Order: sequence, then C-alpha cells, then structure tokens
Amino acid sequence: MLKKKIKEIVVGSNNEGKIKEIKDLLPKYYIITSPKDYGLKSPKENGHTFLKNSLIKAKHFSKKTKKICIADDSGLEIDLLNNQPGIYSARWGGKRGDFNLAISKVYQKLSKVDKNWKSKKIKARFICALTIYGLKKKPIQSLGIISGRISKKKVGNKGFGYDPIFIPENHTKTFAEMKLEEKNKISHRQIATNKLRSFLF
Ligand code: IMP
Repeated sequence: MLKKKIKEIVVGSNNEGKIKEIKDLLPKYYIITSPKDYGLKSPKENGHTFLKNSLIKAKHFSKKTKKICIADDSGLEIDLLNNQPGIYSARWGGKRGDFNLAISKVYQKLSKVDKNWKSKKIKARFICALTIYGLKKKPIQSLGIISGRISKKKVGNKGFGYDPIFIPENHTKTFAEMKLEEKNKISHRQIATNKLRSFLF
C-alpha cells in the first residue's frame, strides 16, 4: 500500500508548538522533519482562507524538499470580534510572534467592543486546515473546528499561541492547562488529522 512506502513527512511549519502537536498526532513510524531541517523559511501566506494558506505552505515546502508535506494553517475566531483574528492569528503576535502581545490585543479589542464582556460568554472557535501535498496527484485537504469560549484571564502555561485564553466547550480548563495528550484528543488539529486517517495511518 502507498502509505507503507512513505518514510519521511515534512511538517510544513516553523511554529514549534504546531510541529510538536502534529508529530504527536501522526503515526510513530514516520520520520518527521520540518522546514528548519532544510533551512527553509515560510512562504508568504496571501490566501484569504485557512484552506488556501495551508495549500500555499504544503505546496511550497513539498516542492522545495521534494518530500511529502503536511501543512497546517489555523487560527482563532471570536464571535464578538467579527471572527477576528482568524487567518491573522499569528500576525497579531507581531514580527516576533509574541503570543502575549496577541492575547493582550484580543482583550483590548473585546473591551473596546463591550466593556462588560467579562460578564458574558464570549464564543470562539479554533480552526485548523490541513493539506497533504506530494502524496497523490492532487493535494488532499481537511478542516477541523473546535468551539469554545474566551477565558476572562490567561490561565495555564502549556501549549502555545492563544491556548491560555481558550476554554473548549464542555470543559472548564483552558487548552494551556491541558497536557499535550489531553489537548490532542479533542483539538481542531486532531479533528483535521483524523479526517486524513485513510491516507496517513
Ligand atoms: P499560522 O497557521 O502559522 O498562520 O498561525 C496560526 C496561529 O493561530 C498560531 O500562531 C496561533 O497564534 C494560533 N493557533 C492556531 N492553532 C492554535 C492552537 O492550537 N493553540 C493556540 N493558538 C493556535
């Protein structure tokens, strides 16, 4: 079978948090590499959707490395902010990818829209688009979504990005309070990876 022949998969990201999660979600028999191992920088993400941007990354890194690449484009949508930061989630952290800066931006914007936001349930969701490039003639894509709400303060120090302010539905802890195994059982990334099971597992 085709998947037995795959040895190496390039995880098309320069975000260490993401690479760690995707590596944990994929079967252990793959050798997982990343653009850093090839000295490659990320391409410009000029798509207008998560799916388009994950395709841009997967294609770019697969062509450069001549390997199969799985790339993730993901982000946080907040209802009260008209679904911002969305595809700009990483960019809210500025050039240095400072997640504390991104989180304070979220809190500032929420206070601007509604100064009583802390007494309300602020609905949000994480979205993850995955693309596998170089395995079949056409790219293979999937989408994973997890709904939840924004925490009134930052809690937890695990994970990455907006994890300290996101509480998934039917849970009381933020993603940043959960161990990797716990987050990876329910996350948007897990849901998207699971949809690609027949190609990768
Ligand atoms: P990009 O897909 O590399 O453009 O960036 C995605 C950005 O969305 C990350 O840098 C984080 O800010 C945010 N993000 C995506 N998935 C997660 C997650 O699982 N936890 C926390 N933040 C996330």
